[in-house]
Formats: sequence, structure tokens, C-alpha cells
Amino acid sequence: MQSMLHTDGTPVPAHRSGSSTPNSGRTLLIDGEWVSAAAGGTREIRCPANGEPVATVDEADRSDVERAIAAARRAFADGVWANTSAWQRGDLLIRVADILVRDKDEFARAESLDTGKRLVESEYDMDDIAACFRYFGKIAGTDAGHVVDTGSPDAISRVQYEPVGVCGLITPWNYPLLQVAWKVAPAIAAGNTFVLKPSELTPSTAILLMRALAEAGLPAGVGNLVLGTGAEVGSVLAEHPDIDLVSFTGGLHTGRLISAAAAPTVKKVALELGGKNPNIVFSDADFDTAVDYALMAVFLHSGQVCSAGARLIVQDDLHDALVDEIVRRAEQIRIGGPFDDDAETGPLISDAHLRKVEDYVAKAIAEGAVLRTGGSRPDGEKYANGHYYLPTVLDEVKQGSYAVTEESFGPVLTVERFTDEDDAVRIANDTNYGLAGAVFTSDPGRAQRVANRLRHGTIWINDFHPYLPQAEWGGFKQSGIGRELGRAGLGEYQEAKHVYQNLRPGPQNWFGGE
Ligand code: NAD
Repeated sequence: MQSMLHTDGTPVPAHRSGSSTPNSGRTLLIDGEWVSAAAGGTREIRCPANGEPVATVDEADRSDVERAIAAARRAFADGVWANTSAWQRGDLLIRVADILVRDKDEFARAESLDTGKRLVESEYDMDDIAACFRYFGKIAGTDAGHVVDTGSPDAISRVQYEPVGVCGLITPWNYPLLQVAWKVAPAIAAGNTFVLKPSELTPSTAILLMRALAEAGLPAGVGNLVLGTGAEVGSVLAEHPDIDLVSFTGGLHTGRLISAAAAPTVKKVALELGGKNPNIVFSDADFDTAVDYALMAVFLHSGQVCSAGARLIVQDDLHDALVDEIVRRAEQIRIGGPFDDDAETGPLISDAHLRKVEDYVAKAIAEGAVLRTGGSRPDGEKYANGHYYLPTVLDEVKQGSYAVTEESFGPVLTVERFTDEDDAVRIANDTNYGLAGAVFTSDPGRAQRVANRLRHGTIWINDFHPYLPQAEWGGFKQSGIGRELGRAGLGEYQEAKHVYQNLRPGPQNWFGGE
């Protein structure tokens, strides 16, 4: 789900080490004012790589969220944003993109401190984030609606796009600002107001973004930021009657809770959930390419990628050679902190998540998976205070087993075998998820046939992970509802209104009367 494809061979930039506290004090943005939580709650953010403090931010409660929603409602009702032209809104987004380019270092550093991901990866993310704002800036004013053929010279009819209203935006920690950008940029483009709640683990870049939006000229109350846990803060956005749309990215379980909380008010719900993404390798694929992409597909960002290629599905006669080589290469992957020039991947986000990954691996082994490498935390003093886990390969996992149905969201590759094309497609579709998948083969016809038959929202052929802001992203089946990015990603934040006018009004006499 990010453009690591383009990073191969790129040297990690030299780095300034040490922590900073860029976001301490008054970190909630409500109605254009930076404020502290009403009840005085705070949270300390620590770097997952070494446990060092990064920032102390405010922790909101229900009353803070309700004030933020009220501000967004007022700003929507007074038309301060909705009644601007879409071109003006697009211009603002392009100014935001320029600010993100200007302040790239500050943002990337804050993102790496919060997530523990390598600085170079945060820098690539920043390029993608700026591109997202630029894309929605450019398309904001290009489609106001369309005229409809009424079949009569005495009537005109048009469909116009209007903002949905007040949006509640809830995002995860793995690509903190990228996930925020995919929601905030189209919400602004369409003329909505919003209340954003980023992950409580990684709030720093959301704070910086709100500053950038204000600098670019977003009026007070249009964009509001609340920080805190899902249970305390996110749940209010999901259930509140003054939220018209809740757009969520995160885990399947949370997605179900949000759907249920949103149901009584019949608000619009957009969900970007998890994935259990197949990576199918036919024996006619280029061997070195298949090995390289299989590693990157699953071990990028220690597997904390919704579209991670966590399920390797390999043709029988290639299995032994391919898995041997993947294991050999996985054992060479260098692990370290965000500013470690030598590191190729980093820590998991938290101790709780590390324990979940350990639990997942233990369950997989208990049900018969063969541990080929990894399966533990790395040894060594430099890993002592971080949440590190070794790249892990589990071979001979069984279809339908826990290991291939549940997301580990960690650096864990499972391996299944297939016999022929039909078998490969059947196994790859045998999941409740449907986010992304890939096929590696040198037969172009087969590549297209398999791509057509896979029930996943993004398919890569002889590649893994690239995405484009102009191409829709989202899940089939339980990977979600709706799409982000592309035209449909803007459409999520629009209502289509049909306006029909009778040009020759007069009594219709449907009912006879006197
Ligand atoms: P999560 O579901 O635990 O949390 C995501 C967000 O929801 C956080 O801001 C959290 O505070 C909030 N939240 C938690 N409980 C809530 C509740 N009851 N009501 C409202 N909000 C609540 O997910 P995570 O651990 O932060 O992220 C990892 C998950 O996100 C993985 O499953 C991953 O696949 C998924 N993800 C999907 C995509 C995609 O594009 N489909 C992208 C990134 C991550």
C-alpha cells in the first residue's frame, strides 16, 4: 500500500538522532483554537524503536468530542466552506501539498518517531501524501454534476454533487498521515467539515497537518482534531447524530463496532479494513523477481501494511526452491530503529501488538505450520527497549486454518501450495477478506485471467504494493465498504442531488376534482 517499489537501492539518508517534543501542549483543534482536553487528560507518546518519550499530547473525552462536532456542524451550517467554489477548495489543497513538500523533513521525522518506521520510508510516505493532496486539489472542480435528458422540451433536469455534511474521520497507526490524507483531502475537496481522530498511538503528524491546513487558509471550524482512544473518542464520532458520515480505516473488529454504532442514526459509513492478501507465484515466474517481491510484499514495515502479501501461494514444483531462498534472504534482513542507517525494517508499533503477533505464530505452529525461520524477538542490547520481531516464515499451512484466515499484521509469511491455475484462484479467494493480491507469472494471458478472477480490490501483476492516487483503493468482501482515492474516493464525500424543473407549470389534473 505504499510505493516502496521505487525505493529499491535508494540509500538511507544520514540522520540526526535523538528525540524531540514537537507537539506538547494544547493539541486539540476545536473551532480554530488549539486547546487542552477539558478534563486535563494527557498521553505520553513513546517511540516504538526504543521506548523514549516523543511527545505529550492531550487526551480528549466525550465533552471535547461533542464540542468539536458542534463546531464542525456550525461551520457546515453557515456555509463557510460548502459554499465556496470547488476550484477554490482545490487551490487550498494544492497549497497544502506545497507546505507538505516544504516541511517534509519535519513531518517525516515526527512520523518516524511515532511509528518507529525508517526515516526513508516516512520520507517516501510524505511524497505520497503531498501527491494525494495535489490529486484531490486538481480534481476538486472538474465535475460539478451532469445534465439529464428528460425527454421533454418542457423540463430540465440535472444531477449536482454536494458535500455530505459533517464527517467523522478515524484512522490507524501504520501509515498515520497517509491514511489521514486519503480522508481529509477528499472531504475538503467536496466541501465538508470534519472531526479527525487519528490513532492514539501516532497523533503527531495529524497535529502538524492541522497547522498546515490553517496556514493554507482553511476556515476555523471546518477541520477539527480530537485525540484519544477509540473507545472514548472514536465511538462518539460513530454514534453521534450530528455526524453525517463516518469514514474509518482500521481492523475488521473495530469496523464492525463502528457499523453497529452508526446504524441507529443511519449515517453513511465508509470502511477500509484489513486484508489477508495472496501472493500467487507460478513456476514460470522469474525466480529472482518472485523471491525479491515476496520478501518486500510481507516484510515491508515489518508487515504492518493492510495490503501485506502475507500469504505466499506457490506452485508445487517451485515450492522447495522458492521457500528455501526466501528463508535464506529473510534471515539477512537487518532490523533497527528509524534513524539506524543500516536497518532495512523496524519495530512493531507496541508491546501489545508484539504479543498479538507472538500469539498468532504460536497458534499457527500449534495447528501444524512448520516454522522455517524467525518466530521470536531478536537478541541483542539494541532491541531491548523496542518492540521487535524477526521476519518469520511458516510453511505448509493448511487452507482454512487460523494462520491463513486471520491477519497477523506482523512480519509473518505463511506458505501454501497449489497445483494449477484453478487451484491457485480457489485458494487465493478462500478468505473473508478481499483487499489486495498479486500474481507472478511470465504468461501474460494467465496473468490477466487470474487477475480477473481474484476477488480482491487491487491486483498486482509481477509487482507488489504500488498504488496511485488516481486509482480507487478498497476492499471486496469483509475488507471494507466504499473506496478511497480516485474519483470514487471523492464520491464518498459527496451527495448526488437530482434537481428537476417543470418549465411549463400548470395544473396537472391528476385527480379530477370539480
Ligand atoms: P484499530 O481498528 O485498532 O484502530 C483504528 C482506529 O480506530 C484508531 O484510531 C482507534 O483508536 C479507533 N477505534 C478503536 N476502537 C474504536 C471504536 N470502538 N470506535 C471508534 N473508533 C475506534 O486498527 P489499528 O490497529 O490502528 O490498525 C491496524 C488495522 O488497520 C489492520 O487491520 C489493518 O489491516 C487496517 N488497515 C487497513 C487499511 C486499508 O486501506 N484497508 C489501511 C491501513 C490499516
